[in-house]
Amino acid sequence: SKKLKEKTLSAAQEKMEKIKKELDVKPWTPDVTIQDLITSLLDKNDRDAFFVADIGVIIKQWQKWVKHLPNVTPFYAVKCNPTMGILKVLEALGTSFDCASRTEIESVLSMGVDPSRIIYANPCKQITAIKYARTNNVKLMTFDNLSELEKIEKFFPEAELVLRIAPDDSKSLMRFGTKFGVHIDDCSDLLEMAKEMNLKVVGVSFHVGSGCFDASAYDTALEMVRKVFDMAKTHGMELNLVDIGGGFTGSNDEMFGKFTEVIRKKTAELFDSSVRIIAEPGRYFAAMSHTLAVTVISKRSIKQEDNRQHPRRTSNNMRQYNYYLADGVYGSFNNIQFDHAKPTALLLKPTNKAPTPCTLFGPTCDSIDVIAKDTQLPELKIGDWLYFPDMGAYTTASASSFNGFCPPPVYYYCNSELEDY
Ligand code: PLP
Repeated sequence: SKKLKEKTLSAAQEKMEKIKKELDVKPWTPDVTIQDLITSLLDKNDRDAFFVADIGVIIKQWQKWVKHLPNVTPFYAVKCNPTMGILKVLEALGTSFDCASRTEIESVLSMGVDPSRIIYANPCKQITAIKYARTNNVKLMTFDNLSELEKIEKFFPEAELVLRIAPDDSKSLMRFGTKFGVHIDDCSDLLEMAKEMNLKVVGVSFHVGSGCFDASAYDTALEMVRKVFDMAKTHGMELNLVDIGGGFTGSNDEMFGKFTEVIRKKTAELFDSSVRIIAEPGRYFAAMSHTLAVTVISKRSIKQEDNRQHPRRTSNNMRQYNYYLADGVYGSFNNIQFDHAKPTALLLKPTNKAPTPCTLFGPTCDSIDVIAKDTQLPELKIGDWLYFPDMGAYTTASASSFNGFCPPPVYYYCNSELEDY
């Protein structure tokens, strides 16, 4: 097995070198700060906003995953950040993929990924997409309702089905329970119906909600899965797959340590080694890999007392400013609306000027395009740059080009080599 590991590692390293060439990945040595790196890009690229993506972060996250959850195969949730660069790096590392739509399946297959490395993890699928999955032999898919079973019976009867249950998602930032997942009390009926339709149910999945902050969510969800395994047995079905979904933090090692400890213990206690455990992490891999750099494109002074525009100083001699940035909530900062994100604005050129009250707006003509309301920053001028770390998850994925402001380009760097896992 040591030999196999070495072979896998060298194959992954070889692939990674190829990808680095394709993506024009530049090395990033520890003596270069993110500020220096962004500054070096300003002159070379005539851009108002851009991402710096560090594929070294993805490599490190992968190595951490393999260390903490060696028996859990990650199926990267493409929806979190479907940029081909990220997908290619994860493919080279050997992850599998969670796809929510036909387009995501197409992207993954276009990299030459074997269809067995895909789970079509959307419990409510279009018929056209089910047919596409069948044509391309993407068999593994989730369901949580009777009409989905009826569609699958008609259009993909050989599919391998994973029953998505609804766990307690109250310990997460983004809750999915109102939309997806069957209640434990209804599982038995659904399993029975699947059996009557001669469909093959292979396992159970759950999602504790994205941005989970309590490890006990996995504990109770896994107990529920065990109950469904036992229910299935009473219907003569032998399940062999547990899908523990996403929810993993990317930036908090202590919390990740707690989650993985619970998952290791609980899966070992509840399931024997014939049961395959998979997960669908998105944020975990993508969040910290991207930093967004944005310039100030416009500025105005505001009279503080009544918030009206005013060019002069206010009575207490404090100015309040509106700054207009080159990217906003219709672009990469849509995570503020859709992902409860509170991006941190940092100055590219630190100053010892005192902070003044300000609001950061995006570039569109819509007044709800607000990145940070009533915040404090040292006074900025047009052409100054801000940068926002941890902008890789649920940012570019759901950005629009409303008002003609297109999502920023991505420049790739690598601060860590693939050495061992
Ligand atoms: N799996 C499914 C079915 C999801 O809906 C999501 C997020 O929406 C994910 C996985 C990824 O979740 P996370 O980014 O929390 O890892």
